[in-house]
Amino acid sequence: MSKGKIGVIGSGLIGRSYTMLFISAGYNVTLFDILAEQTHAAKKDIWDQLKALEKQNLLRGTLTPEKQFELIATTESLEECVRGAFFVQECVPERLEIKRNVWAKVDKMVDPSVIMSSSTSALLPSAISEGLANKNRFIVSHPTNPPFYAPATEVVPASWTDEDVKEKTIALLKEVGQIPVVLNREIKGFVLNRIQYAIMGECYRLIRDGIVSPEDVDTIMSQGLGMRYAFMGPWETAYLNATGMMHYGEAYSDMIFNIQQDFGPPERMEGPTLEYINESMRKLAGPEEDIQERRRWRDRRLTALAKLKKDM
Ligand code: NAD
Repeated sequence: MSKGKIGVIGSGLIGRSYTMLFISAGYNVTLFDILAEQTHAAKKDIWDQLKALEKQNLLRGTLTPEKQFELIATTESLEECVRGAFFVQECVPERLEIKRNVWAKVDKMVDPSVIMSSSTSALLPSAISEGLANKNRFIVSHPTNPPFYAPATEVVPASWTDEDVKEKTIALLKEVGQIPVVLNREIKGFVLNRIQYAIMGECYRLIRDGIVSPEDVDTIMSQGLGMRYAFMGPWETAYLNATGMMHYGEAYSDMIFNIQQDFGPPERMEGPTLEYINESMRKLAGPEEDIQERRRWRDRRLTALAKLKKDM
């Protein structure tokens, strides 16, 4: 018996990932894209990924790849995608006017009980949903890329989002193996990107000022901070680096405050510093035309890390 239907709008990178997550728990997914060939390419890609995950023993849920794959339908009609769905996940490009346009149409097609969820990385849920009749059913579920290996998902309600929308979204994400983190209110950049951009800002200044090379910044992260961050965040790191937080504060608060004051204002990434970083990355990760190969290299390592964390 079907567990229920989910409509996924947009079959690029994130639409494919969400489809895979939902079918892993036995939901039927109807996938729509303005480009029909994208949904066909998505199905092929999902099949390849399911088989690869099975081989690596990382398949989620209890269904075989074949059974999961049978749960996917594709359509060239937005209405068919969302009709009868209890949950709609939108994964169209990160442009406010595109998202508003898609949701304005969906808003007229769905029942008022449906949950309308966007994958947006940074657009505020209130900005996307303010004109919708069912804006109280709108929420953001922002995954980390790639969602299968990095399960943290930011759940961001607007001020008018119904409580049950938040609760049901969290429950669904947990059911498919994601780890939701709920923001108490919307904020520009949400949490993940605010942290990420704070790191990038300081790394950029250190390179601009000639303190270290871009390669060395990446080494500090991948062979230093990142080794710990794969298993714990900055607070647990601090807690363990002293005898608890109060001791950490006594020992380091003055020093940290002093260094933070030295950070300097944000700076737009452009010009010679950005060109220098790009040249360094070309040496480190290969030229732009070979990026796909390097992404596969990255995904193999993420797979190994995900396996390690699962088996520990
Ligand atoms: P993508 O470019 O890979 O895919 C977007 C898809 O949407 C394409 O297949 C395109 O044909 C389709 N599309 C465009 N307009 C459409 C419309 N009007 N109706 C239906 N389909 C339409 O993009 P992506 O990386 O999958 O990103 C999708 C969303 O997820 C964005 O909001 C993005 O910010 C967010 N996101 C991306 C990442 C990431 O790392 N790529 C991570 C988290 C969240």
